[in-house]
Amino acid sequence: MKEAQTDPGPGREAREIVVVGGSAAGLFTAAKVASGGRPVRVLESLPTLDPSPRTLIVTNHFRQQVNGAAGASIRNEIRKFELYTNGRSATVSLREPDLIIERSRLIRALAEEAGHAGARLDYDTRFLGLSPNARGLHVQVDRGGQREELYAESVVGADGAVSRVAKAAGWPPVETVPLVQAVVKLPKDFPADTTRVWFVPDDTPYFYWLIPESPERGALGVIGEQGRDTKKSFDRFLEKKGLEPLEWQGARIPVYRNWVPVRRTVGDSDVYLVGDAAAQVKVSTVGGIVTGFRGAQGVADAILRKGRRELRALRRELSTHWLIRRALHHFQQEDYCQLVDMLNDSARESLGAISRDESTRLLWNVVRRQPRLALLGLRSLLLGRR
Ligand SMILES: Cc1cc2nc3c(=O)[nH]c(=O)nc-3n(C[C@H](O)[C@H](O)[C@H](O)COP(=O)(O)OP(=O)(O)OC[C@H]3O[C@@H](n4cnc5c(N)ncnc54)[C@H](O)[C@@H]3O)c2cc1C
Repeated sequence: MKEAQTDPGPGREAREIVVVGGSAAGLFTAAKVASGGRPVRVLESLPTLDPSPRTLIVTNHFRQQVNGAAGASIRNEIRKFELYTNGRSATVSLREPDLIIERSRLIRALAEEAGHAGARLDYDTRFLGLSPNARGLHVQVDRGGQREELYAESVVGADGAVSRVAKAAGWPPVETVPLVQAVVKLPKDFPADTTRVWFVPDDTPYFYWLIPESPERGALGVIGEQGRDTKKSFDRFLEKKGLEPLEWQGARIPVYRNWVPVRRTVGDSDVYLVGDAAAQVKVSTVGGIVTGFRGAQGVADAILRKGRRELRALRRELSTHWLIRRALHHFQQEDYCQLVDMLNDSARESLGAISRDESTRLLWNVVRRQPRLALLGLRSLLLGRR
C-alpha cells in the first residue's frame, strides 16, 4: 500500500471535525456541526452513496428531528399495536402515529442535507487509526487502496456497533445482539396501519414484530441472543405464520447496559462517539434511530459549545429503557400472559398516548394506572432468571 500524506497546512484542514461513518448518526452530526459554522469532513468506507435498504419503525418524535427532505423517507404510518402471547392479545391505539421509514432514503436525504450545510463527504475512505500530534489529531485512512494521513481538530466516531474509532481511542467494546428481518408479502387481511408484536420467551427474551411498509409488504423481524439459534427460531416462526421471505435485512446491534461517556481526550484533542458506536439504542425495543439522532445532537452541541442538556436527557431515557429491559428479560410465558391480561383500558390509554421516546413519563403513567404491572416487573427484576 502506498503511503501518502495530505499536507495539513495551517488552514482549514487542521481545524476540521472529522466524522467517521456516513450513516444516520454520522450524517446527522455532520449537518448540525457544519450548520454551526465549523468545517466538517465525513469519512465513509462504502465506495459510493449506496446504503443498504432497511425497513424501520420510529416514533413520531422523528418528525421533530428531521427536516422535509429526510421526512420523505416516511413510507407508512402506524396507528395501532397488537400484542400477542400464547393465544392472548391486547390492542393499543396510538394517539400520534408511529412512522415506517426506509433507511436508504433517509441516508440519502441526510447526506444531501450535510452537503448543503457545507460538510465534505469522502466515500471509499476507511478510517484505520488515530494518534495525537501538536496541532490536533493525525487520522490514518485507506482511500481507495491508498494509505493517507489527515489532520483533525476533533474526531467523531459514528462507525456503528463495532466502532474502530472507539477502539483506537480506548473505549471498551459494546455488547451486541443479532437482529434479523425478512421482507414478506402481507397476509390478505393484514391492516396496513397496524404493527403486530409476539412475545415468545421460548424463542427469544425480546420479541417478534411485523411492521407493514405498504398494504402489500411488511418486515417481520426478531432480536435474539445467539445468531444461529435466532435464525433457526425465526425460520420456524415464518413457517408457522405461512410467510415467505422476499428479502433479508440484518446486522448486529448494540445492547445498552450503561451510559457510554461520549467524549475522551487523546493528546489535547477530543474524540466523540455517537449512535450505535456509543450504544445509543433503546434496549427495551432495540430502536436506535431517534436516540442516535439525540446523541448526535448532543455531541454537535458539545462541539459547538452549546451545553450538555440533550446528552443528560438521553442518558436518563436510555437508563429507563435498560430498567424496562431488565424486568422483561427474565419474563417467562406465564409472566407475559399476566402482562397482557393486566393491560386494562386505562393502562392501554397511557401506552397509546405517550411515546416510547418519553419512557420515564410512559412508565410512571402506566404503573399509576395499573400498579400490578409494577409488582410483576419488580418480581422479575428481583428474581432474575428462574
Ligand atoms: C435489520 C435492522 C432493523 C432495525 N430496525 C430498527 C427500527 O425499526 N427502528 C430503529 O429505531 N432502529 C432500528 N434498527 C437500529 C438502527 O438501524 C441503528 O441503531 C442505526 O441505523 C445506527 O446508525 P449509526 O449511524 O449509528 O450506525 P450504522 O448505520 O451502523 O453506520 C455506521 C457507518 O459507518 C461506516 N463505517 C464503519 N466502519 C468504518 C470505518 N472504519 N471507516 C469509515 N466508515 C466506516 C459504515 O459503512 C456505516 O455507513 C435496526 C437495525 C437493523 C440491523
